[in-house]
Amino acid sequence: MKRLTVMLMSLILIVSAAFASGDMETEKTINKYVEDASPKYVFMFIGDGMSSPQTNAAQVYNGCNEPGLIDLEELTFTQFPVVGLQYTQDATSFCPDSASTATSLSSGYKTHSGVIGMGIDKVTPGVTIAEMLHDKGWKIGIVSSVTINHATPAAFYAHIASRNDYYDIGLQMAASGFEYFAGGSVNKADDGDKSIYEVLEDNGYLVTNDRDTILSLNGNSGKVYAYSPVLQDDGAMPYDIDAPADSLRLKDFVKKGIDVLDNETGFFMMVEGGKIDWAGHANDAVANMSDTLALDEAVEVAVEFAKNHPDETLIIVTGDHETGGMTIGYAATGYNTAFDILRAQKCSYVQFDSYVEDEMADGSFTFDDMMAMVEEYFGLVAPGKTAQNEALVLDEYEYAKLQKAYDDQMSGNVDGYEESLLYGGYSPISVTLTHIINNKAGIGWTSYAHTGLPVPVYAYGEGAEAFVGAYDNTEVAHKLMDLTDAR
Ligand SMILES: [Zn+2]
Repeated sequence: MKRLTVMLMSLILIVSAAFASGDMETEKTINKYVEDASPKYVFMFIGDGMSSPQTNAAQVYNGCNEPGLIDLEELTFTQFPVVGLQYTQDATSFCPDSASTATSLSSGYKTHSGVIGMGIDKVTPGVTIAEMLHDKGWKIGIVSSVTINHATPAAFYAHIASRNDYYDIGLQMAASGFEYFAGGSVNKADDGDKSIYEVLEDNGYLVTNDRDTILSLNGNSGKVYAYSPVLQDDGAMPYDIDAPADSLRLKDFVKKGIDVLDNETGFFMMVEGGKIDWAGHANDAVANMSDTLALDEAVEVAVEFAKNHPDETLIIVTGDHETGGMTIGYAATGYNTAFDILRAQKCSYVQFDSYVEDEMADGSFTFDDMMAMVEEYFGLVAPGKTAQNEALVLDEYEYAKLQKAYDDQMSGNVDGYEESLLYGGYSPISVTLTHIINNKAGIGWTSYAHTGLPVPVYAYGEGAEAFVGAYDNTEVAHKLMDLTDAR
C-alpha cells in the first residue's frame, strides 16, 4: 500500500514537471505557428451571446433525444481542429456588453461597457484589425443579422463613446470605405440631416435590398451595402425560424461577400450572428438554437471557400460573451432532458408577439383565444387535455403561471419586482411560454442580460494553432494582427 502511494506520488511529480515545462513549449509552439502562418483570407464569425451552452444546446437540439440512444449532432465549427477559450470581462464588469467585448475582439484592448472603439478614457480612439488590413490593401466585409450599426459590427469600423449614437455610427460606416456591408438594415437611419442610406450612396456605395440585385453581386459591383428585403424587430433580419422560405439568409450574405471581396491581396470578413444574443435576452431557446444553426451554415460557406484556398484561409468562430445564463439542466427536471418537445415551437417569441398583437387589435382576446394560439405555436395544452406529445400537457403550476401572464399582459401589470423577474421587460405571455417549454425540455435561464461565462474560440485553417489555450478576449485581436502582419 505504502509502495503504491510512493509510486503514485512520483508519478504526480513527473506529470507536474512535464506540465510545467510544457507551458513554455506550448508558448514557443504558438509563436512558431504565428511566424510561419500567413493567411490572406480571414473569416471571423461572432455568435453574439454564444458560449458553450448555446452551441451545446444546438448540438442537442439536432441530436438524438431518445433514451438509450442520446447523442449530439456536431456543428461544422465544433469539428474544427483547434479550440481555445477566451475570458470576456470588460473595464466595467465581469458581465460585459457587446460594445466593449467586440472592441476587445476587433482592436485588442479593454474598454467600458457601451463604448465602441475607444479606450477606457472614452476619448482615445484605437485602430481595429479591419482598419489595419484595409490600409494594407485588403478588402473588408462586415455582415450581421442585426442592424449593421449595432454594437458588434460597429466595433470594426466606428469609434464612439456611446453605442446608442446610432446615427453617428452610421455616418462612420459610410466613411469607412469598407467594400461590403450586409445583413440587417441601418438602425435610426433618419435621425440626422440626411438618411444614412443617402450618405452611403453619396460615398459611392451601391445600396440595395433587392433580392435579385443582391444575388447578382460580384467582384465588379464596387462598394456595396446589401440588406435583407425582409426585416423584423428594430430592422434586423428575421429570426431564422421565422424567415420566409425564399428569403436571403446569413449564409447567402456570406456567399455574396466572398463574390464581392475575393481578390489577390486578401480579404477580412466579420460575420455576426447577432440574434443569438437577442433570443438569449428573451430566454427563447428555440430562436436561440435555430440562429446558432444558421450561423453554422454560414460557417460552412467559409469552409467551402477554405477548401479551394488551402494554406491561405483562416476561419475563427467565437462569441463576445454569454447571454441569458442558459443551462442544460433545470431545477424541476433534475437529470432529465426532453429537447424533442421543442420541435413543437413553430416561431420565435417576436413572431408570436406580433400574432397576439394582431388578435388584440381585432377586438376581444380571451384566455381561450390565447390557449388556442398556445397549442398552435407551442404545442402546449391545458391540464387534462390530449397533446401531440404527453410531455406538452401543462401541469397545474404551469397553467396558473400562464393565467397570471395573460392577466398581467391584459392589465399592463409588468412593473412590480416579481413581474420584472418573471418577464424581464418582455411580453408576459410569450416569455412565460418560452420559460415553460424550455423548462419542460430541461433548459434553465438565470438572467435576461449577459453573464461572465468564458467563451470558446474554434479555429480552422492557416494559423489556427495560434488559438489554443485560455486567454483574454483582447488576445484574439492580437493573434489575428500577428498572423496577418496587420500592424
Ligand atoms: Zn446582448
